[in-house]
Amino acid sequence: MLVVSLLPTIASASPADVSEVAPGVFVHIGQVAEASAANAGDTSNWGFVVGERCVAVIDTGGSAATGSALREAVRAHTDRPVCAIVITHGHPDHLLGLAAVAEGGIAAGELAVRQLAHQRLAAAVAARTPAYRTLAQRQLGLAGPPQIIVPGERVDGEVMLDLGGRQLRLQTWKTAHTDHDLTVYDSQTRTLFAGDLLFVTHLPVVDGNLSGWLAQTPALRQLGSLRTIPGHGPVVKGDGWQAQTEYLSGLRHAVREALKQRVPLQHAVEAVPAPDGWQLTEVYHRRNVTAAYAELEWEDGD
Ligand SMILES: [Zn+2]
Repeated sequence: MLVVSLLPTIASASPADVSEVAPGVFVHIGQVAEASAANAGDTSNWGFVVGERCVAVIDTGGSAATGSALREAVRAHTDRPVCAIVITHGHPDHLLGLAAVAEGGIAAGELAVRQLAHQRLAAAVAARTPAYRTLAQRQLGLAGPPQIIVPGERVDGEVMLDLGGRQLRLQTWKTAHTDHDLTVYDSQTRTLFAGDLLFVTHLPVVDGNLSGWLAQTPALRQLGSLRTIPGHGPVVKGDGWQAQTEYLSGLRHAVREALKQRVPLQHAVEAVPAPDGWQLTEVYHRRNVTAAYAELEWEDGD
């Protein structure tokens, strides 16, 4: 019976599944899981937006397999060329498909493919490239370490991407989930690709700055999107930020209390309770407490 119950999870791993969540906006929802050979790195969301002239891809999944599946999905839904690939941040589960996407000729036609990311992405990825390659090889069960490439065009502030009759607004943010988060907004359908600035179902992961993330959230909410594609978990309609905000502010409060009472880090990791209602809590909550502790230890007392 156990084996039978596991089958649907594996069977649903096909990364080519996309749904059109708004006219011309296609999204693939990855599994809420850590990368493994079984899921082939299909553990984050990616999508593409089709304009009259060309297509923009947003994120690429966590492996060459997800990159190839993305390419197939684009070809299955449009014959327009890809003119831009946008990476929301440099974590491997969003970036490792890029080499396969960029190599695969989805840019057929005379348009040049722009590859864009936050101006700080390249440095952030460079600092971790050996670790990312080793980790991905082990998690995905690859024969050798995967190729990692980064977008060459650096965004600082806002950039408008014209897909023909449709403009996407790329926007960089101050340090939050990482120090190089970037969002993509389609004003035509009021759809926001939030990258990992928004987690749904999957416990949020702090790799940038907890207070920064909380500080950026009101502005993200005020974009007024009708639907938001998180980096992980299902698409949300309306305002989907409340649960994440509660987790992050609860984490900050609990860690500040531990610091006030001079609880050492190794005890704080045990003492700050993991919240209910999230997945992968056992993988990420202690890490978040550790990151928050290091960050908040040096803030001015209030
Ligand atoms: Zn991430």
